[in-house]
Formats: sequence, C-alpha cells, structure tokens
Amino acid sequence: MSWCVMLLLCACVLCCHATPVKPDDESQQTTSQERLTYIGHKVVRMTPTNYDQVEFLRSLMDQALPLDFWIYPGNPGRPVDIRIPPTVYDSVISVLKQHGLNPLVLIDDVQKLVDEERLENLATKAESRHRFIRSAAGNEVDGRVEAEILTPYNPVYSLNPSPNDSQQFMLNHYHTNDEINGMVLELAASSPFVTASSIGTSYEGRPLTIVKITTPSNDRSLVKPAIFLEAGMHAREWIGPAVIIYFIAALVNNYNVDPNVRAIVDHFDWYLMPVSNPDGYVYTFQWDRMWRKTRSRTEEQDVSSRRACAGVDPNRNWDTHWGERGASHKPCSIIYAGQEAFSEPEVAAMARFLMGRKSRIKLAIDFHSNGQMWLTPYGYTRRYPMDFEAQYMLAVDATDELWKVNNTIYIVGSVANSIYRASGDSIDWWYDVAGIKYSYGVELPGKGYHDFILPPSRIVPVGVETFEAIKYMALEVMREAVERE
Ligand SMILES: [Zn+2]
Repeated sequence: MSWCVMLLLCACVLCCHATPVKPDDESQQTTSQERLTYIGHKVVRMTPTNYDQVEFLRSLMDQALPLDFWIYPGNPGRPVDIRIPPTVYDSVISVLKQHGLNPLVLIDDVQKLVDEERLENLATKAESRHRFIRSAAGNEVDGRVEAEILTPYNPVYSLNPSPNDSQQFMLNHYHTNDEINGMVLELAASSPFVTASSIGTSYEGRPLTIVKITTPSNDRSLVKPAIFLEAGMHAREWIGPAVIIYFIAALVNNYNVDPNVRAIVDHFDWYLMPVSNPDGYVYTFQWDRMWRKTRSRTEEQDVSSRRACAGVDPNRNWDTHWGERGASHKPCSIIYAGQEAFSEPEVAAMARFLMGRKSRIKLAIDFHSNGQMWLTPYGYTRRYPMDFEAQYMLAVDATDELWKVNNTIYIVGSVANSIYRASGDSIDWWYDVAGIKYSYGVELPGKGYHDFILPPSRIVPVGVETFEAIKYMALEVMREAVERE
C-alpha cells in the first residue's frame, strides 16, 4: 500500500469518526430507515496516460475507501469516473494530482441528478394516467407526438397488457419491480403469444421473472431456436430493465406492423428477463439509488457494519475462471466475486435456465450501463475466442443499424480489450460453458453527464435504437442458420 493511499485511509477514518451518521458515509448501516442521499458527492473524470496511473487507480478500488468507481480503470487513454463523498473530496483530489492525474468535475452534485430523475419519473407517471400517448421527451412537439418524427422505426410508447384495461403500461418512466411483474402477468393473461414464468427465487425470496414471446409453429414438432435477453444484474443500471421492457412491447405491438418483427417472432422463442437481480433493484428504489450488487449476506458480511459489505457482484459470480483477475475476494468491494461460483441464487437460476436450453439459444445479451459499448467474450483474458471474428462483425453491423436512429456511437470489442479484465462474468460462461456463439454484454447509454442516472425521457429513444440492433442481429442469425441448412 503506498503512503498516499495510507494518508487517504487516515483521512477517511478521521472524517468518518467526526461525522458518524453522515448520509454520504459508506459506513452507514443498512438498518437505517432513511433513504441514502448523495448531497455534495461529485463525480470526477480523469484519463490515465500510463499503466502506473492505471495500477494506482486499481489499488484505490481495492481499499476500504468510500470511493465509487462509475467507470473502472481500463487501459491508458480510457477515462475513469469516480464518485467522491465530500468528506474525503479534497484529500482524494490531492492524491490523484500527485500521481499526475488531472481530475475534472463531471457531476457537481449527484443528489441533484437523483432528485431530478425521481421528480421526472413521478411527473411522467402521474401525467401518463391522463394521456395514452406522449412524446418520448415527455412533451408534445409542435402539437405532434415524437412518434411522427422517429418513423420509420415504429417507436412504442405504451403496452396495454389487458384489452379491458384502459390503463396503459407506459414506457416513458422507470417502473418498480412490482409494477414490472404485474405488467408481465397481465400481458401473459391477455396475449396468446406471451407466457410468464419464474425461473427461481432471489436471496430475499422474490420471483425471477422471465417472459417468453413466440408464435405457434405450423409444424408442432419443430423445436424453435431461441434468443435470451436479460438486464438488471447491476441494480443501479436502470436503463437495462427499461430497455428489456421496451423490447417486450416492440415485439408484441409491432408484430402486425413490421414484417421483420413478425419474421423474428415466428422464427425464435424469445426469452426476456427484465430484472435478473430483483433484490438489488428494489433496494435502489427504496434505500440507495447507487446500489450495484445482490443483497445476500454471509456471516462475515453480517458482522461488518459497513453498508457496502453486503451483496455479491452477480457479473463476477459465474463459474468460469471465477475469482481470477478483475474480480475481488473482499466482501466490501463492488466487484466481490462471492464465496464461491454460483453462490448467488439469481446467477445459479439463470445458469440452470440457459443450460436447459443451450443447444437452442443462438443469441444471448446481458444489458448493463453505461458507456455505449457492444462487448464480446472474453472478460478474463485478452485472448480472443475462436468465434471472435463472427461475433465482432455482427456487432459492428448491428451497431451501424443502431446509429442510423439517433446517431449514437458504440464501441465494439472484447471485454478485456475494450474495458478491463473481468473474470467470472456472464458472457464468458455463456460462450465457453453454455456454448452460445453470439454472447454479448452491452453497455447502454449514457455516456457523459448522466452516467447511470439517465433521465426517463431517454428510455424510449434508447429503446428504439437498441431494438434496431436486436432486430438486425436476430435476422442475421436467422439467415446464417438458413444458409447452413
Ligand atoms: Zn453493469
């Protein structure tokens, strides 16, 4: 441990003792009944230019410091974002500068963004009760809804799970876990092409809900190929679940509108899992908007008073190269791999589900945010897998389709070469163990000012553009299978 880090730890200990119940203090206990706030927390961005600086930033990640890395240290030249509480802000900035880094303030007050998001979500939700169709931006544009502007992409703004229910399920705000499960059950009850089931139970006993969308085949003996789309492993990345819900709505609503949607719904069984870490997701709504991990607690974690010591990073808990580089064995780390592979019931349930259908699943995508990256295996090594060329080219072409909608630019590459090493991650297991050739991890928007706290007005535009990429991929995978026959 360098003397700089020692000094930082001392500063943290002093500050934490001086203000024991500061809401921004990472040592706050989970027993508190107050929602955590982030008043005065800043997010700073810096770009390391050499490996010494990268290693120094990584060493900060592994210390018991109240720093929250929003973009992890990757290769030199790649920006790093860190949320810093006010109690240690000056000392952290000074240590960063001593290492030749030049941190610039990206977000001046995280709580302000959280409040804005909450208010916009509430306002949109309330107004949705009175209007069935609203623009994606939450406002009418010269009397026209934005649907007209975004055509020919057939954007979807709402889903009406029940024909008897005048209350539409609006897509322009973030929904709670209960609202999502309610919508899924109603949709399954009203649509012959949609079924809902639970593939297991979370640590706190919530169902792990999955939606299946497919049309009956003329040949009843035919076993259809399948596509698996999942989000929400990391609780605070709210745009992921919102985008999966958008896909559900787009597949259902556009079946009779878009011949390509009809083709891919007829050809595949679609399995969509909006919230794969429901305990964490609920926790972000109720207590801590910035929570990332699951909510499991081991004995060791229970005796710790530090809030961050609960939970496991579900995207480091898969049973392939588990616990190697890019994952932590420290329970308080936000990339804690767990006590063993598949320790998390949510991850184990997904693995069982995929293994049971592994020969049928042709495309599987794990949605995260943020950073606008379409990532291929591997995370554990910089080595490329055998299918890299095909995986890479499909992602490049699909992100070209995505770009045409709103000019959103994505980077395509393997996890380890584009961001950082991450072992025990989902897509390495999907590819290596389940044998799913087209396994991807996607970092959705938004890059820049909002990072994880993407305003609700961005949900539909992100949904529209990402669905174009999904549609393209599904059509290409379909074509590839036909060519092989
Ligand atoms: Zn994530």
